[in-house]
Amino acid sequence: MAEIRLKNVSKRWHNFVGVDNFNLTIHDREFLVLLGPSGCGKTTTMRMIAGLEDISDGEIWLGDRLVNKLEPKDRDISMVFQSYGLYPNMSVYENIRFPLRVRRVPKEQHHEKVMQAAKMVELLDFLDRRPAALSGGQRQRVALGRAIVRQPNVFLMDEPLSNLDAKLRVSTRAQIKHLQHTLQVTTIYVTHDQIEAMTLADRVVVMNKGIVQQVGTPTEIYDNPANTFVASFIGSPAMNLVPGELRDGTFLADGISIPSLPRDTSGPVTLGFRAEDASLVSEGGQFRADVYSMELLGEATMASFRIGEQLVSIKSDKSYRAEIGQRVHAVIPSSACHLFDARTGTRVS
Ligand code: ATP
Repeated sequence: MAEIRLKNVSKRWHNFVGVDNFNLTIHDREFLVLLGPSGCGKTTTMRMIAGLEDISDGEIWLGDRLVNKLEPKDRDISMVFQSYGLYPNMSVYENIRFPLRVRRVPKEQHHEKVMQAAKMVELLDFLDRRPAALSGGQRQRVALGRAIVRQPNVFLMDEPLSNLDAKLRVSTRAQIKHLQHTLQVTTIYVTHDQIEAMTLADRVVVMNKGIVQQVGTPTEIYDNPANTFVASFIGSPAMNLVPGELRDGTFLADGISIPSLPRDTSGPVTLGFRAEDASLVSEGGQFRADVYSMELLGEATMASFRIGEQLVSIKSDKSYRAEIGQRVHAVIPSSACHLFDARTGTRVS
């Protein structure tokens, strides 16, 4: 049973709070992704779980063991880092075998376990090579092979794909997802890349400045962001956010008038809507503005507009064309609108 519980976990260095009162239960076999911008406390959270960083406050439980004071080696956790951490003088075979030696796994089991792990990460043809003679993707697979060889209870992965080029990142990402599904190991994965988070996670934890902003499935976080920070961090492009006024259920801003919104709030609000939820039309609609730029994405066309300080994007059919500066109209259905408190950024509807 590899459930992980964090209860009121904080990390402080003097006056600086790196992680503030983190509370979460990570379920057995769950793939949990910690997502947030640089410096938000993701790595620190993971290092505290691994035992590489003391915690200032709170409790960390692995199954029914309180592990606050337990050495990293006694936590039955495997880690994979961005910098693969391979031993340059050892072959791929010996690198993968290394954790078995350190943990004094009986020698007669080594060969079978190494071969099994190497097969899973598709390295059987490279076992005699040294890391220097491998590509970045192959090196990262050695690091993965080394993490899985001793079948730990928990995997911790800290930005394991960030040194790979875009294409390799996509294929290695799929491989990690497949491995985790096959091995059914509780996994915590740190990234600042929202696409990685959305594609890999059972649940995502969005963090900012040491504070958890939202915990939810990728769909929950995408469809119902808890605040403007989450809304602006998830999705490509991020959700459009436009400041304006809500009056009698109608949102008003420069060039925008959307009726049929909730009447229980009024005054300054931030309107959120996703580029793909609006559509460009020749006349009418709730939105009109001059085209600021047009981008051809292949499968779609993205038109953007300046509303005050904000850039607003609307996705359209791949054949859609408009000139820069041309006045266009758009339909923004009220059902696709999100409303956030103008001051705090918290969702109000
Ligand atoms: P990145 O994506 O850049 O790795 P992160 O979200 O993983 O960022 P952390 O490495 O967890 O962020 O750092 C969280 C905050 O704590 C940062 O502001 C960082 O500067 C600070 N921090 C980390 N380690 C220490 C330390 N030893 N002493 C003081 N502050 C630290």
